Amino acid sequence: MTILLDLTLPRTLDALVQRFSIGHDGAHVEAWVFEDVAARREAEARLAAAGVQARFRSAYKPLVHHFIDEAPQRVKAATIGLPTHAAAPAERFRLEAYPLAGMLAGATLAFERGSDPLAYTVRVDGVEDSVFAPNRLHTDHLGNDSLTPCGWVRVWDASGALVDDGPVETEYEAAFAAIMGVLAAHDWPATTPFFNVLDITARIPGIERPLPYGDEVLSTAEALHEDLYFSILELMKHRAGLPTADRTLQPGQIVPDVVCGDGPARVMVRLRSGSADDTSLTGPARLADADRPLSSRQIATELATLGGEVRDIRSVQGRPLAARIFDGTGPAVLLSAGQHANETSGVVGALRAAQKLRAEGQRFAFIPVENPDGYALHHTLRANNPRHMHHAARYSALGDDVESREGDVLHEKAARLALIRETGATLHLNLHGYPAHEWTRPLSGYLPRGFELWTIPKGFFLILRYLPGYEAQARPFLEALTAELATDPALAAFNATQLATWSAHASAIPFPVINGIPCQIGESTRQTVPLQLITEYPDETIYDDAFRLAHTTQMRTALASIALLRDGALTG
Ligand SMILES: [Zn+2]
Repeated sequence: MTILLDLTLPRTLDALVQRFSIGHDGAHVEAWVFEDVAARREAEARLAAAGVQARFRSAYKPLVHHFIDEAPQRVKAATIGLPTHAAAPAERFRLEAYPLAGMLAGATLAFERGSDPLAYTVRVDGVEDSVFAPNRLHTDHLGNDSLTPCGWVRVWDASGALVDDGPVETEYEAAFAAIMGVLAAHDWPATTPFFNVLDITARIPGIERPLPYGDEVLSTAEALHEDLYFSILELMKHRAGLPTADRTLQPGQIVPDVVCGDGPARVMVRLRSGSADDTSLTGPARLADADRPLSSRQIATELATLGGEVRDIRSVQGRPLAARIFDGTGPAVLLSAGQHANETSGVVGALRAAQKLRAEGQRFAFIPVENPDGYALHHTLRANNPRHMHHAARYSALGDDVESREGDVLHEKAARLALIRETGATLHLNLHGYPAHEWTRPLSGYLPRGFELWTIPKGFFLILRYLPGYEAQARPFLEALTAELATDPALAAFNATQLATWSAHASAIPFPVINGIPCQIGESTRQTVPLQLITEYPDETIYDDAFRLAHTTQMRTALASIALLRDGALTG
């Protein structure tokens, strides 16, 4: 193991209390830090005892914090004037106001263009307030200008004169900058993979607070994981001369594990080797009742019961993919899940569908977890943070997207290509998920770069990709499939709620909504099956009934699609 960084940073809140405790009697201090309300109130009390009137606010999502910490509890009508900073993307602050539309359901909520670059104008039931959004313009790890949430201090002296008003670097920002700095300066090998596993552990003061709407949560620890993971990938791609949107670079496995804690921040960056060991967080569940992601052990047991002809294809770290073919009748299809291994409801849905298809004697090819290394990592990361989305587990142990892989050595991707070739599958049912709550990158401009359309959930939706020549079948297939799926009132209600909140905070859904289900349809020459149906259920952090609805929907989609195929949906 090689240690690249081992750093302790003082807690910003403590440093501010210390700074203003002596020689500031009669002063008024306002400060913005990445800390939750209890710690902020305690710091205010410590300064009050020293004769300083202080107000500490959250630098992360200050508008949402204003509504939960300071605004009246019952709101009838709210109008929000949005900050107008020229360096922010047009949709940034309306998205950052999410999930107010969901939290204030029943009230009228309107957004309008405001008048201040960095403050919201908030009118609630006739009372007007200004809510400051501390941000600084800086050059990010790609050399781009980035307007980014930051710590801030404002001080009025005992005479009432404003004597300080500007950004202050918090431990949250300093930890991120130190990690990115050490990785940018490191002398990486000339060829990929640059490392086996890059471990980043951080224990840092912060916010971990559920919100009273859907699966929403305010989590600076989760946001730091997300920003580290994607920023490091971007840095590696930049060094390799690849575009930011590339999904093929194989730098190695990047594993940020971030937990909230009191006291000074501690960050470590280490290089180590990977392993094929699996952790098991839970015992087996009856598939139909599964309230959380399945352990790898249970998946193996379920597969052993299903049988089939196994193809021995292994992951980069040596885990079996458990790819198999079931003999039978009917049109040939490939059913797969877990390409992005932090999207776990598809795995349960696929296994449930497979049980039924076996009972019906349907012929099909099956890959329950296309990315078992990512799946094992997801299990490990959930031990510390069960409600985080953990995008580090999205890609393979090489750091690339399994589907995007090209060349001679395909590892996991070899399974889907082999099974499609062998069975002549005309349909690939590729079960996916996406974040069930807001996805942010607060240290790199806030919105997740390249994934802006995915920053807030928009219900269960479908992506249908077809080979040239199959366009005529695509739309009727989706019409019939969505009509069948919409017969579940729980799914219909779930989608209606999420689509309404999406519309309040983002632009109109940029693709057709058929029977209450958004559907993206497009030609693709990057697949070897005539039709590929990708499901997208907002599932990354959900449990219990929400998880059951997710995997039930995944199963129903698979079964209804195959039924349509049997009825001749592809032969017209
Ligand atoms: Zn996915």
